[in-house]
Amino acid sequence: MDKYVEKYQKIVNDLIKKSFPELKGKRIYVSEASSKVSEKCSAVNYYFIWVSFIKVSQKLRKYSDSELKGILAHELGHGLRFENCNFIGKLWKGFRYMTSRKARTIEENACDKISVERGYGRGLSSVKVKRRKKGKYAKCYMSAEEVRDYAKEIGKW
Ligand SMILES: [Zn+2]
Repeated sequence: MDKYVEKYQKIVNDLIKKSFPELKGKRIYVSEASSKVSEKCSAVNYYFIWVSFIKVSQKLRKYSDSELKGILAHELGHGLRFENCNFIGKLWKGFRYMTSRKARTIEENACDKISVERGYGRGLSSVKVKRRKKGKYAKCYMSAEEVRDYAKEIGKW
């Protein structure tokens, strides 16, 4: 395991321990994405029924720990929401995510909120300032300002 991957995996394990006890014992592995995927997204989560793989952009090598926690807490948010579904629900959720823009927006907003609610809003907002989302799915996510406002509103800033 290279030193970056080792660091991300450690952050994920710590986040689970500290802030996502619901995911304790789940197999969640972090690795780095290809350079092509790295250009497009900060992190992607691939779920299978028993195991999930978080692939993070090579650009994250330059990010601070607080920013990494913001992003990875968002990814664990997907894990939480996924785990709350039964088998058919999981399949349905995956399908809806791929085919409906509205479902994708609901999912991504919910995960941004989970990251904020569990205390990682500053890091998440900082990432969003650094890397404004572009492309057709940009509007599916909360903006840096929306993350900040939500964090202030719930007293987690
Ligand atoms: Zn996401």
